[in-house]
Amino acid sequence: MIVGLHDAEKEHFKTKTFPNLALMKISAWHKAHGDLVEWWNPLYKYDRVYSSKVFDFTPTDPYLPEDAIRGGTGYRDVPMDQELPREMDDMFPDYSIYPECDYAIGYITRGCPNRCRWCVVPRKEGKIRPYRTWREIVRQDTDKLVLMDNNILACEHGIQQLESLIGSGYRIDLNQGMDARLVDGRIAEMLSQIQWIRFIRFSCDQRAQIDPVRRAVELLTERGVKPYRIFIYLLVTADLADASERVEALKGYKAINLYAQAERNERLGITPNTTQLEFQQRYVYGGSYRNETWNDYCMRRGFCGGKK
Ligand code: SF4
Repeated sequence: MIVGLHDAEKEHFKTKTFPNLALMKISAWHKAHGDLVEWWNPLYKYDRVYSSKVFDFTPTDPYLPEDAIRGGTGYRDVPMDQELPREMDDMFPDYSIYPECDYAIGYITRGCPNRCRWCVVPRKEGKIRPYRTWREIVRQDTDKLVLMDNNILACEHGIQQLESLIGSGYRIDLNQGMDARLVDGRIAEMLSQIQWIRFIRFSCDQRAQIDPVRRAVELLTERGVKPYRIFIYLLVTADLADASERVEALKGYKAINLYAQAERNERLGITPNTTQLEFQQRYVYGGSYRNETWNDYCMRRGFCGGKK
């Protein structure tokens, strides 16, 4: 059988380097069954085509065959909770299809016990549960391990796995941001001893998370973590006053990294407006927040109702 793989993000964002875990597992399964696997080319015929699309704003390729097997939250007509068949999900990913990827990726837990309004994880993955051990995910040819767990600290298995990574020789990134509300002295001690690829990431998506994030930053810095290692994701909804308050509360930690993400969920009809994008791209990413409040920024730039 000849199998064509289509990664919608790889096709659209030419510089994208983040590998698609599902496609790597599909590739591994087909190769293990003697099939020929290659990137889909619209000019060729295949016995089977798989297409994955992660974001709903990524364009759909109009030339995909009608019988292509589609998956990923980016396809709005595909059920949110669609999973790979068990025998495919159990495969070790075929990293050879993304030769630029120099790290292992995977999940130690799946799901989340919370139900934040803006988040698809509870509907997509369900309640939090153990999924893999880090030893099942790591590669032998790299010491880097990128974990995409959505709320690893909410699961004792996740905490135990992180603890057992200490001294393993592997460096990790938890790229979805941890929940600072779950950081106490034990967790902070553990996080301070893990080897990180670069950042220790948390989310601060609403006002209620300001104090827990501050406490987590302080617990970590007391244990010797340098502030420039700390990275905070900030969700930017249409409530810019809320986002601005979170920035003001956290920017006093001079060296920590703030990263704003405008809310986008096209399944729910939510797309960011121009003010949210200005906040994300120019005010936070551009670094203006370090020197002025959002209100001062708006008055200086002469838009979005800055108040005197
Ligand atoms: S805690 Fe994180 S993963 Fe869980 S529902 Fe909220 S945003 Fe989603």
